[in-house]
Amino acid sequence: MTEQRTFHILAVEDDPANLHLIAASLRDTYRVSVAKTLAKARELIQQHPFDIILLDVQLPDGSGMDFCHELFSNADQYGDLKVIFMTGLTSAADEVRGLNLGAADYIHKPIVQSVLLARVRLQAQLIRRNELLANLARVDGLTEIPNRRAFDQQINDEWRRAKREHKLLTLAMIDIDHFKLYNDHYGHPAGDKCLHDVAQFLSGFFRRSADFVARYGGEEFAVLLPETNLADAEALFARAQTELESLGLVHEFSQVKPTVSFSTGLCCVKPERCDLETFINTTDQQLYLAKEAGRAQAKGCQL
Ligand code: GH3
Ligand code: MG
Ligand code: MG
Ligand code: MG
Repeated sequence: MTEQRTFHILAVEDDPANLHLIAASLRDTYRVSVAKTLAKARELIQQHPFDIILLDVQLPDGSGMDFCHELFSNADQYGDLKVIFMTGLTSAADEVRGLNLGAADYIHKPIVQSVLLARVRLQAQLIRRNELLANLARVDGLTEIPNRRAFDQQINDEWRRAKREHKLLTLAMIDIDHFKLYNDHYGHPAGDKCLHDVAQFLSGFFRRSADFVARYGGEEFAVLLPETNLADAEALFARAQTELESLGLVHEFSQVKPTVSFSTGLCCVKPERCDLETFINTTDQQLYLAKEAGRAQAKGCQL
C-alpha cells in the first residue's frame, strides 16, 4: 500500500470563473469533479467517496458552512473527508467558525492558484500519511499479514454482511502443531521464520478476494471464508495441509509429522441463527477437538 493513488477532489463553487481556475489548477495532479450547487454536491458524494472538498460558502441553494456541519454530523460516513473552505468571507470570526466546524483549512478569495495548489497538496500528504499509519496498525510485524486488530474488525464486518445478505460464513482457527518443540530445538529466530513462512503460505493459499487470513496470536492464525459451506472448507483445509507438507518445512521433533503441520477448527454459520461470540467459541472448541484427535487435521461443525 505504499504506491500512490490519485486523490479525488470535489469543487463546490457557483462562480464559473472560479470553477474554471480551480479545475485548471488541479486536474493535472488530481481527479476533479465539480458541483455548482449543494444539491449536486450531495448527489456526487453519495455516488462515490471523495478525499477533499473545496467548498464555497455562499451558494445558490444554501450555505457551505451548513453543508460542512451536515457532513461531519455523519462522521461514520464522512469522518475522513477533508473540507477546505474557499470563500470571500474573510473575517476572523468567519474563519474561526469554518475551522470549528471541522474544516481542514480556510482559503480567502480571490483564489491564488499557487496557494490553492500548496494547500491541497498539504492535505493530500496528510491523508496519505494517515492511510499508511492505519495500514501499519493493521499488519503484524513478524508475519507481514493482517494482525488481530484487523481480524476483529473484519469478522465484525463479515458477520454483519452475512447476516444482512443471509449468506454463510465460515471461520477457521489454525494452530501450529508442537510449535514449542520447534522453538526448543531450532531456536526462537528459526521459530519466527517458520511463523512467517506458514503465514505467507496461508495467505497465498486462500487467495479468493473475499478470503481473509490473519495472525490471531502466537502460533495461531484465523481464516474467514465468506459464502463457503462446511464441506468446501473441509476440502480446502485438507488440501492446504497437504500443500504445506509439500513445502517441506522440516520439524524433526514434531510427534505427528516430519514436517510442520497445523490443526484446524472450523465452524460454518448462518449468522441469523447464533451470535458472534458463540461462533468464535465453537470454532475454538473444534480446534481443541482436532488437537485431541491427533493433530494435523481439521474438525468442523455447522451452526
Ligand atoms: P500444540 O500442538 O498443542 O499446539 O503444541 P504447541 O507446542 O504448539 O503449543 P503451546 O501452546 O505449548 O506452544 C506454543 C508455542 O508457540 C510456544 C511459544 O513460545 C510459541 N510462540 C508463540 N508466539 C511466537 C513467536 O512470535 N515466535 C516464536 N518463535 N514462537 C512463538
Ligand atoms: Mg459563491
Ligand atoms: Mg497455540
Ligand atoms: Mg500449537
